Amino acid sequence: MCHPEPFDSLRSLRTSGVEGCEFDAIVVGLGALGSGAAYWLAKRGARVLGLEQFEFGHARGSSHDWSRIIRKSYFTPAYVRLAKEAYAAWYALEADAGEQVVYKTGGLDLGPYDGAISLAAYADSMRTCGVDFEELDAREIRKRWPVWQIGDDVHGLFQPDSGIVAAERATAALRRTAIALGAELRDRAPVTAIDTNGGEIVVEAGAERYRAKKLILAGASWTPQLLGHFGMRIPFEVTKEQVMYFKARDLDGFAFGSFPIWIWMDDPSFYGFPVFGEAGAVKITQDCGGKPVDPDTRDFEEDREITARVTEFVGRRLPAADGPVVRLKTCLYALTPDRDFIIDTLPEFPNVSIAVGGGHGFKFASVIGRILSDLALDGRTDSDLSALTIGRPILQMSDPPKTYML
Ligand SMILES: Cc1cc2nc3c(=O)[nH]c(=O)nc-3n(C[C@H](O)[C@H](O)[C@H](O)COP(=O)(O)OP(=O)(O)OC[C@H]3O[C@@H](n4cnc5c(N)ncnc54)[C@H](O)[C@@H]3O)c2cc1C
Repeated sequence: MCHPEPFDSLRSLRTSGVEGCEFDAIVVGLGALGSGAAYWLAKRGARVLGLEQFEFGHARGSSHDWSRIIRKSYFTPAYVRLAKEAYAAWYALEADAGEQVVYKTGGLDLGPYDGAISLAAYADSMRTCGVDFEELDAREIRKRWPVWQIGDDVHGLFQPDSGIVAAERATAALRRTAIALGAELRDRAPVTAIDTNGGEIVVEAGAERYRAKKLILAGASWTPQLLGHFGMRIPFEVTKEQVMYFKARDLDGFAFGSFPIWIWMDDPSFYGFPVFGEAGAVKITQDCGGKPVDPDTRDFEEDREITARVTEFVGRRLPAADGPVVRLKTCLYALTPDRDFIIDTLPEFPNVSIAVGGGHGFKFASVIGRILSDLALDGRTDSDLSALTIGRPILQMSDPPKTYML
């Protein structure tokens, strides 16, 4: 256990470089991404401190609830390759944690041939990367999963490796394993000041302060506040999303193992799961249907407009799921304008790295954690981050166009 510097010595610590508690890396934010970083840093033998402003596993950010979709089906080869790396990184965690967190049940991307999201880019990217998938017409989709009420104007891509990451359990497993490997993780420790001191980082959290060689920012919806410590701003939006659990009339039609995770590729876009986590209910909702909020003042109330859109979709396309909503949870999307991640070091602070998951990052938390450990410990990574830099043109615009669909 490393003892923090007392609060009133920060000034002398900065100026005289007083010996104190030193870490190789400090991770700010212990949702899925920060917990992933803490795990990989500890796995690589680094002295790591993780600081989380709320209690571990809280429901005020982006990583809570039972499930997240994991899939290799993505619209660019770069994301498909990253998804392949994510599976490998989750399997490394499963081996270290002694716990399964990835559950394959197959995945179906489907929508109208002339829908707002073309499936062609997804198929091309998977082909380029050698990912197994099938192209299905509406007849085949109805035959395999009779709960779908779709006409012949709909088609789909089925990918057998898709499935679910058990979200809360996976994040807890990342933290637990990080601790077992030597990491120090603290909750209720909001980082309120960050200073760079001749290449060294000094972080203030509550009444305590810590020194480290490297800093990792994984604050998701609080990214603007964290970047503010470095005089940086990027265009950024936080939305309050909600997921709904329907007590399906025909539960067997949505059984885990036979019914896939699915994404309705149109505008609006919807997605859903087989029965998983919440007994006797299926999770279905709209992607990116929420309104902008401030993460510190947001409420946790139902968004009736999302409820109306999702209920209408369920009644029309999946009437077998159309029962009472037995649980409704809210959650934040932390969105860059192009919805692409940020995984990079800060241009003027090479000892500071940042990751933002853009509302689809959970499946990648394992590999993003590994990449963040690469950046912190090696100063480089073999993973392709070329489209995910913080310096990309759209993040320099004051009023960039938004492309929130995936
Ligand atoms: C409804 C919903 C459905 C989703 N579905 C999917 C899906 O199916 N598949 C998928 O891959 N992704 C999905 N996502 C996205 C995914 O869940 C997120 O990208 C991911 O959880 C982000 O993790 P994070 O660690 O970046 O964020 P968070 O979990 O929000 O963690 C950030 C943490 O930083 C902490 N923090 C911030 N500032 C400070 C500070 N100053 N000091 C200390 N701590 C601080 C916060 O308290 C927070 O705990 C979904 C998200 C939502 C909301």
